[in-house]
Amino acid sequence: MCSGQVNPPPVSPDLSETPPREECGVFGVWAPGEEVAKLTYFGLFALQHRGQEAAGMAVSDGAALVVYKDLGLVAQVFDEPTLDSLRGHIAIGHTRYSTTGSCTWENAQPTFRATAAGTGLALGHNGNLVNTAELAARAAAEGVPDVSGATTDSDLLTSLLAARPDLSVEAAALEVLPTLRGAFSLVFMDEHTLYAARDEYGVRPLVLGRLERGWVVASETAALDIVGASFVREIEPGELLAIDDDGLRSERFAAPTPKGCLFEYVYLARPDTTIAGRNVQAARVEVGRRLAREHPADADIVIPVPESGTPAAVGYAQESGIPYGLGLVKNSYVGRTFIQPSQTIRQLGIRLKLNPLRDVLRGRRVVVVDDSIVRGNTQRALVRMLRESGAIEVHIRISSPPVKWPCFYGIDFASKAELIANGLDVEGIRRSIGADSLGYVSLDGLIVASEQPRSRLCHACFDGEYPIPLPAPELVGKHVLEGIGVRVANTERAVNGDAAPKLPRGYGAGGALTRP
Ligand code: SF4
Repeated sequence: MCSGQVNPPPVSPDLSETPPREECGVFGVWAPGEEVAKLTYFGLFALQHRGQEAAGMAVSDGAALVVYKDLGLVAQVFDEPTLDSLRGHIAIGHTRYSTTGSCTWENAQPTFRATAAGTGLALGHNGNLVNTAELAARAAAEGVPDVSGATTDSDLLTSLLAARPDLSVEAAALEVLPTLRGAFSLVFMDEHTLYAARDEYGVRPLVLGRLERGWVVASETAALDIVGASFVREIEPGELLAIDDDGLRSERFAAPTPKGCLFEYVYLARPDTTIAGRNVQAARVEVGRRLAREHPADADIVIPVPESGTPAAVGYAQESGIPYGLGLVKNSYVGRTFIQPSQTIRQLGIRLKLNPLRDVLRGRRVVVVDDSIVRGNTQRALVRMLRESGAIEVHIRISSPPVKWPCFYGIDFASKAELIANGLDVEGIRRSIGADSLGYVSLDGLIVASEQPRSRLCHACFDGEYPIPLPAPELVGKHVLEGIGVRVANTERAVNGDAAPKLPRGYGAGGALTRP
């Protein structure tokens, strides 16, 4: 069962540029005797940064499985009476930013299906599949019912898992998971068992934690910390975990080929999270040190673009000996407002998010450390604002290499044509944003700072080397399941014995690679 009110989607009043959007956060808990809905609520709070469009959870008491979800932030979706009504010993939760499918209530997660065997099945997904069109065709060919109105790869996956009357959820997962291509860190559950699974590349993080009376799985270790769970280990790439009254079972559905997302270390993950044994804050500070060595500056002060640029700015200041200071104050909550800004307010642009400290900046040569440049609009406005605030020189330092390629594994950057580094070299970008100098950390420098072997990382958005093969451009992308009549067409073709997907051109990665 799904229930909930419909709020309007959050909007960003700074329309000059949106940062790379995180994908989603997932959380799961199996803990008899604990208030699992409240544990999940706090776990989702710790994962709010990974998705701010929608939030939801599913709870089971062993007899009934209930899903509650809505558009909005965790604190807007859930209140005390709602949480009190969600009773049980198993729960999963999800915070969503849409990487496949639009921001609609139907697309919020957990997804839900009644299985062909008569149980409930709820699922939360972080990542993005790249063979969604192929899976949709297969579902249509096999007569898998499409009943939810959702248009996400996650919903389709739930349908596939629920469609086998002859198999348990666990057995169905061992059949279906090896047929998925792309990035998926999953939590799912029926009335009795909590499951967690991670794609064979381990693109998105997923960790296992221990409570005194149960188990927790979460996208990030920071979500274990907030509920008092101790870190046990990462869910292995290609591993399916099942947790129920019989204990914890681990099964392999694919051989591991680790390719963890390098951008998690740059921006996506919380600084207090640890991924593959490397604390994210420490990695970011080290990137800042390397940035200072690779791109020194003659300046009076190092300031971060808060908050994502802060650790690297600390590292830059430590290494360069230039004093660290705060020159920009972030209006932390304005980017998550539900109020549509008027045109007058929109024109304030970056000032809605960042307020300059003029006394700090006046007459100073300033090094500004930011995490990435996507379209360049933010940095252009930033440089102008700093100069208007009295800075006499502005040196921009970026704690990631130039982002030149779109991500198909769960991060929504922009289309290839929109990425400023795709069309301009560093000097061209410097001129475009109006800085006195511009320096990006090298890919090698970032990889060394992550303390991961290069061979175990995905760095495709920086160099175009996609570790998971991509299908034809028109068969991947955010709106791949929203093409005109795609599902109808697929169903018709299945009825006619032709399972080939019929997707309109111009959707998905084709657009991501070419459209401005
Ligand atoms: S393309 Fe970039 S953002 Fe996407 S998974 Fe790879 S490293 Fe991460």
